[in-house]
Amino acid sequence: MVVFACVGCGAVVTARLSRVALPDHADQTYGHDLLPGFLEPGTYAVNPAPSGPPWRLWDEVGAEEAEARGVYAPVYSLPYGPSGQVGVAPGDVRGTVLIPERCDGLCCGWDSRNGPNLACAECGRAVATRIDDCGIWQVVWLDPRAVCPVAVDGPAHQVVGWEMLRKAYPDTPPVDQLGFWSPVWAAAVSVALAHLLAVSGGMRVVASDGFAAEVFRRALDALLPPGPPERHLVLAGPGLPDVITDIALVPRHPQTGEVWPCGAEAVVPLAADVWMYMAFNDDRRLGPAAAGMPDDVHRDDPLPLLPYSSFSPDSEVFLSTLARLPATREPWLRAIYDRVADHRPSLPFF
Ligand SMILES: [Zn+2]
Ligand SMILES: [Zn+2]
Repeated sequence: MVVFACVGCGAVVTARLSRVALPDHADQTYGHDLLPGFLEPGTYAVNPAPSGPPWRLWDEVGAEEAEARGVYAPVYSLPYGPSGQVGVAPGDVRGTVLIPERCDGLCCGWDSRNGPNLACAECGRAVATRIDDCGIWQVVWLDPRAVCPVAVDGPAHQVVGWEMLRKAYPDTPPVDQLGFWSPVWAAAVSVALAHLLAVSGGMRVVASDGFAAEVFRRALDALLPPGPPERHLVLAGPGLPDVITDIALVPRHPQTGEVWPCGAEAVVPLAADVWMYMAFNDDRRLGPAAAGMPDDVHRDDPLPLLPYSSFSPDSEVFLSTLARLPATREPWLRAIYDRVADHRPSLPFF
């Protein structure tokens, strides 16, 4: 376990934390409600890419410099903040004070527009950015230039084995009580879709039945040419029978970010909480139908949660992921990127 400490004075600025993989929805914006935190209390995640302000427009930066910064297709602007920002749950921050003149946002709260808005209470060094505006997953980003990890006593950080994942970690249901698709699913599927297109070679991909088909099929049919030849996407991972397929949809470990090792020709990683639900959940319970009905007639009891609309990937998360895959330099994949960027309303994205 670690705490993070101010590099200026050594004061501790977080509770004890264990590292987890950066969730796919870390940078997602969704709706106009206040969102919860994207990290569980007691955990931290590192964003390896540059993030946060200052931002520079694509036209100023140019394709060559963008590529050197890991962006392979035009985006509106690029972040020139530090690499390695450390996300923590807001309740795990200790010993900081607000920097009032830096607390600003678009609408209902604060975002990162002015740079760090939390200072070390001991020495005044700006150490972190609290984000809580509407539509943004709440978090505090620690500035890696201003804090450092310090190992502390505590229970050793156990990495859960693949075979124990289902017992140790909850899955994430796809639909809420009102019938809205989960934004966590939207982000996870959008990241996976970008990787899936990159390994498709531009050929038609047919998703296996079940949730994988439900969430990928519309976008795949809209973005890839109609058959043949075709490739097949099949769920594979711990607890599932071995499959021989050309593209396997496998879990990405929630603590380490490791991709489940698999012998398929190509693998597409998917956030483990979504993958586990796709692979194992069976939330339909059947009971006897009403009195007077024949014995072999059953009904759902309770009613399963059903979406009120078809699934749509998140275009922002999809484009942001695709722009950062080197394969997007290939003309056929770049054409897909441009098409989604330019024609979102006519495609199955939100
Ligand atoms: Zn300090
Ligand atoms: Zn608002």
